[in-house]
Amino acid sequence: MTDDLLNPSLAALRRGHKSDPAPVLATRLDRLRRLRALLLEREADLLDALSHDFGYRSKQQSAFADITTTVKSVNHAIKNLSFWMQSQRRQTDLSLRFSGARCESAYTPKGVVGILSPWNFPINLALSPLASALAAGNTAFIKPSEITAATAERLAHLIPEYFGPEEVQVALGDVDTSRRFAALPFDHLIYTGGEQVAKSIMRSAADNLVPLTLELGGKCPVIVGPGADLDLVARKVAFGKYFNAGQICIAPDYVLMTADQLDQFLPKLARAVTRADASTTDNDAVSVINARHKQRLEQLISDAKNKGAQLHHFASEKPGGYSLHVAINPGEDADICREEIFGPSLMIKTADSLASQIAMVGEGPHPLAIYVFGDRRTFDEVAKNSQSGALIHNDIIFQYANDDLPFGGIGASGMGKYRGIDGFREFSNHRAIYRGGGIDVSKMVTPPYPRIFGAINKIMRKL
Ligand code: NAD
Repeated sequence: MTDDLLNPSLAALRRGHKSDPAPVLATRLDRLRRLRALLLEREADLLDALSHDFGYRSKQQSAFADITTTVKSVNHAIKNLSFWMQSQRRQTDLSLRFSGARCESAYTPKGVVGILSPWNFPINLALSPLASALAAGNTAFIKPSEITAATAERLAHLIPEYFGPEEVQVALGDVDTSRRFAALPFDHLIYTGGEQVAKSIMRSAADNLVPLTLELGGKCPVIVGPGADLDLVARKVAFGKYFNAGQICIAPDYVLMTADQLDQFLPKLARAVTRADASTTDNDAVSVINARHKQRLEQLISDAKNKGAQLHHFASEKPGGYSLHVAINPGEDADICREEIFGPSLMIKTADSLASQIAMVGEGPHPLAIYVFGDRRTFDEVAKNSQSGALIHNDIIFQYANDDLPFGGIGASGMGKYRGIDGFREFSNHRAIYRGGGIDVSKMVTPPYPRIFGAINKIMRKL
């Protein structure tokens, strides 16, 4: 899409916002219901496009990960919106209260929200931010990833069937279109994707001082504390690598455990992998998105081997079924120690104590999620001594299934949070409202100063 097309689309969405800058509850609910209708009525279309884009993507996984999770977010917004929209009474200072002044705060729409979304969950990561943006009363412009081109085209085709051009639009195009999209003067821009691109997005947003939400990735560790249930860890890690072939920003990236735990863990992991897709006759797997990413993953594993890692390959017996590469204790100079894996490979590192595991996590950038297995004391120890977007005890990935949790990173894993009430607030202007009272207090601090000016100062300092 050229600037000739991007600019008129943005202008239409801005007109939409200006013609109704503070949509009432009924308008917002109507938009959310139309979004839900799109997802439910056109599910088959969307699932076909997803399968096409991935080469192979289990329709059951797509239905759950891209459709159900998004519908859930929309339902959650519909149920809670009237509560979220309420203005809040704020304390009014005693010194102002006597004049009759009153304070409150209100959430008002920001205007036009830009949504720049990635390929790994192309529906959910475009339309879940859209649910938050519409709940907050904004209009929205989406630029889906060109890597999942069929899904992007489907969205561009379906959105105009459910929304007017002054409510929601979709921009299609290559990376150059995304670059120009990121430079548009939005009232807020949410970008989901990798860290390097995020830096250039931040630079282009700076020109227009566009507020940003950055949903990035990184390496999510699994800390296995003393006495952890290793069967549970194996099942959960296998799930995290099986689901969407591990192409998930909150997938477990590496596991930290003691050497003794490792000996017991490997056979359990092998069992969990072979069992993972043994129960159905169809292929329930998901492909790595494209040849470039396959090559990147192979390269990470062969580099780990060259740098001293012990390698294992676990696979189910089904042709094209689930397969997991594991690299154990690569040298610190291996790429896999720094780069996010984002696929069906895993790194395991041994560390002899919980304290050294926590220290290893602390050496890297703050992760999007830290997974902790073990007792409450282990969890508390990690909580006290680490930083991350989310902290999860005895589970993996399912924090995302809950809509009423803030979602987002910190530092290199991102900034800002969305989903649920946090998404509503992220895309709203939290506006201060001050209603002046009948007594004009400014007289007391305007020349000629009253004789009691000194006393007023003294009293106010004590309030
Ligand atoms: P991607 O290549 O699909 O890129 C994401 C978006 O950025 C696309 O719309 C693309 O067109 C656009 N883009 C690419 N280059 C650009 C540029 N120079 N300027 C402006 N826009 C540009 O996706 P990706 O980056 O490969 O996504 C994978 C990364 O995303 C991983 O690091 C993963 O952890 C992260 N991720 C994070 C979340 C989250 O919610 N925190 C979710 C999914 C993925």
